[in-house]
Amino acid sequence: MFRKLRIRFTLSTLLILVVFLSILSTAVYLGTKKLITSSSEGMLAGTADRIIRTEDDRNNNGNDLIIPDLFENKKVMDKFENLFAVNDPKLKVGYVMYDNMLDVVYIRNSADIPYDEFEKYVLDSFQDRNSLFSLEIIDDVEYRIYTKFFNTGTKAGVVQLYQDVSMETFILEHLKHSLLFLIIVSSFILAVISWHLAGKSIRPVMESWKRQKEFIADASHELRTPLTVIQTNLDAAMCDNSGTIAENRVWLDNAYSETEVMSKLVGELLMLAKIDSNQVTIGNGNVDLTDLCRRTVDKFAENFKMKDISVEMNLEEGIMISGDELKLTQMLSILTDNAIKYSESPGKYSIRLNSEKNKAILKISDEGVGISDEDLHRIFDRFYRADKARHREEGGTGLGLSIAKWIVENHGGKIKVDSTVDIGTTFTVELPIND
Ligand code: ADP
Repeated sequence: MFRKLRIRFTLSTLLILVVFLSILSTAVYLGTKKLITSSSEGMLAGTADRIIRTEDDRNNNGNDLIIPDLFENKKVMDKFENLFAVNDPKLKVGYVMYDNMLDVVYIRNSADIPYDEFEKYVLDSFQDRNSLFSLEIIDDVEYRIYTKFFNTGTKAGVVQLYQDVSMETFILEHLKHSLLFLIIVSSFILAVISWHLAGKSIRPVMESWKRQKEFIADASHELRTPLTVIQTNLDAAMCDNSGTIAENRVWLDNAYSETEVMSKLVGELLMLAKIDSNQVTIGNGNVDLTDLCRRTVDKFAENFKMKDISVEMNLEEGIMISGDELKLTQMLSILTDNAIKYSESPGKYSIRLNSEKNKAILKISDEGVGISDEDLHRIFDRFYRADKARHREEGGTGLGLSIAKWIVENHGGKIKVDSTVDIGTTFTVELPIND
């Protein structure tokens, strides 16, 4: 599934980049073509004007016909040469001049260009009294032809200039192939880069998908255990057809206590599901943390008594933090409940709260079973229980600490644990306090 996603991601990125590159290359090609064409057309039009002016001069002053030499037009030729980086300046150009009877009066054709093939444009230009550019391919050679009607007052006719554009075509073809090659090579490089980037960007999605799958598998597993226990105990009670409720109390009690485990588990699962979908918001009221610690300890008075656990409280008065009272109470309850659950009787529980700089430091310690080094770094993971069988009997779901950690971190704080097996455990919570 992720491979398909990666391929799709790569292809769409590649498609966008290739389209963009193609548009850019087309723009470069068309821009260059336009520049070359307009420069070449400008040269032909300028030269045509010069020929006509010279012809006019000759008529007015009675001078001999001085036909300008296209190759003498140094400035234009230099520009042409520079533009194309052509080393050979001998561009094949020439012209024909026609009088008003459309008879040829002068031909300058140094390169044997078949000018008679272009006569059709002379008639068009003469009839319409205009000038026109055309392109013709004769014997596989392409020519640009400029045909211009002129009327100097004393004389009218048509001047036609022609130019072999093979060099132009060659340059444009070369440019086209280079751009095509560039697109192909870049597409290959971009495909590799896109594939790599696609892999990188879907990694978090993959991880979250994997976590989600593990979460569902763990949750179903955790829900199956109490359900099986309930079923077995109810089966035992139902088998006793003649027995009274009191006689089957033990089965019913077992089933009942499992429903409690299940309801705790479902509550925690719901909370985690909401956390994962960003549906849990943290309030930011003024919370008296000292008072909250005291109330939490009071709430567990009965549990301390039942397990013969002595309580030591050392709370600095009036520590105020901004946060969510309900969530902070939940975090304190998780830590206190664990301290009781994982203590042998008789035991000792201690809660200390003091402020340091702009932090509230809360320490909840017990002298219980402790946590081994290899379990220590995993106890904040979801569904992790150090001693699975035993801690499940205590009603543990393995979700409490991951919720407590989320609560602390979403109040801008930190939580850490120190523990020694058979000596005890201390959870330290640091929370930012109100100024
Ligand atoms: P649980 O519902 O199982 O207590 P938690 O997430 O609260 O889930 O705790 C995860 C595991 O960390 C527990 O199963 C237990 O093995 C260990 N643990 C937590 N608190 C203590 C403690 N105070 N003493 C010893 N072990 C603890």
